[in-house]
Amino acid sequence: MEKKPFVTKELIEEIVKKYPTPFHIYDEKGIRENARRLKKAFSWNKGYKEYFAVKATPNPYILKILKEEGCGVDCSSLTELMLSDIVGFKNDEIMFSSNVTPKEDFVFARQLNAYINFDDITHIDFYKELAPFAKTMCLRYNPGGDFTLNNEIMDTPKDAKYGMTREQMKDAIIKLKSYGVESFGIHAFLASNTKDNGYYPKLASILFNLAVELKNECDCHIEFVNLSGGVGVDYKPSEPKNDIELIGQGVKEAYERILIPNNMGDVKIFTELGRFMLAPYGHLVCKAIHEKHIYKEYIGLDACAANLMRPAMYGAYHHITVLGKENEKCDHIYDVTGGLCENNDKFAIDRKLPKIDIGDYIVIHDTGAHGFSMGYNYNGKLRSAELLLKEDGSVIQIRRKEEPADYFATLDLDKFRK
Ligand SMILES: *Cc1c(COP(=O)(O)O)cnc(C)c1O
Repeated sequence: MEKKPFVTKELIEEIVKKYPTPFHIYDEKGIRENARRLKKAFSWNKGYKEYFAVKATPNPYILKILKEEGCGVDCSSLTELMLSDIVGFKNDEIMFSSNVTPKEDFVFARQLNAYINFDDITHIDFYKELAPFAKTMCLRYNPGGDFTLNNEIMDTPKDAKYGMTREQMKDAIIKLKSYGVESFGIHAFLASNTKDNGYYPKLASILFNLAVELKNECDCHIEFVNLSGGVGVDYKPSEPKNDIELIGQGVKEAYERILIPNNMGDVKIFTELGRFMLAPYGHLVCKAIHEKHIYKEYIGLDACAANLMRPAMYGAYHHITVLGKENEKCDHIYDVTGGLCENNDKFAIDRKLPKIDIGDYIVIHDTGAHGFSMGYNYNGKLRSAELLLKEDGSVIQIRRKEEPADYFATLDLDKFRK
């Protein structure tokens, strides 16, 4: 099975006249349609809201599209809060779920009247010195152990730095109640990039049961359950696609089984998806600029790991399409590399592809989330532009590429110039 890019060779040849490669390009139509599918899948819950994880794609144009589709934002830093504020997210449209949080971040989150999600019980007294508590505060849970689904270990919360123990969850609520907090949200993120429709329903069961127990133990009102992120995408063409309709139904089933009989039918469901909202709707478009024939066959691109870190950092698979050669036989085996002085700067290793010629345009798929945003400036490489393919087929630039002056902006070079 092949992955089909949302751009054609002809469109890219048009675009590069104005915006040379490499660049990230996003598909507005795909983003909107997917956001609507998600909203529909959870429409059975009156208070449902998706808080897009800003770190996945921190661009105001993208945030605005999602805002128009009814999403809020999930922020973890001062600058993510500032960006969300500028785009117009307000009050309960902002979730602040950080960890190891600096003082000024808490203060600004409270100024924006965002929901604040405490990562640790010690944050309560840390925060108390900084700002007044809101009516509702959220707490992040870490159940420890392994997180399993169908007897398979999906992740290991016991090794994760996030969240509080079961004991601490209870103690935190008692403490916050004594400080005047009236309602609580509970949150957990237990597995990343899951490809099983059972992940959210299993997580929901854990958090719903916890909500019932905490309500009984602490005599408190649980306002929302935040299922956070973690619903994955099919980076490999052979992988299954998550069925968001089925996922929504699975969470509904758990809600009706656990919360409804406990008189908790007013609990709102929140999600904080990043990858699922954006990854498939972004491409990194680049050009083959070198080939090399030594012990292996190499194709060198004008993009590098500084534009997309996931392959270098996680060994992640990203599908590659050679534009205009979609129907040619994949009878060559290449390592497709960037130009960093790091041997892990490889977008693909031993990948079967059609014969690539210098000047061919290459699409690296599923870079819409955790793509541009994880970029960095190692080796003095500059960040690329970001473009948006609008619903009407036109293309606009939504972030210009960096210039050397951007790279030098924090240095006082005048002191060194003769
Ligand atoms: C990263 C993150 C998300 C989004 O995760 P995805 O894997 O992109 O869905 C959501 N919530 C929090 C707190 C995060 O740190």
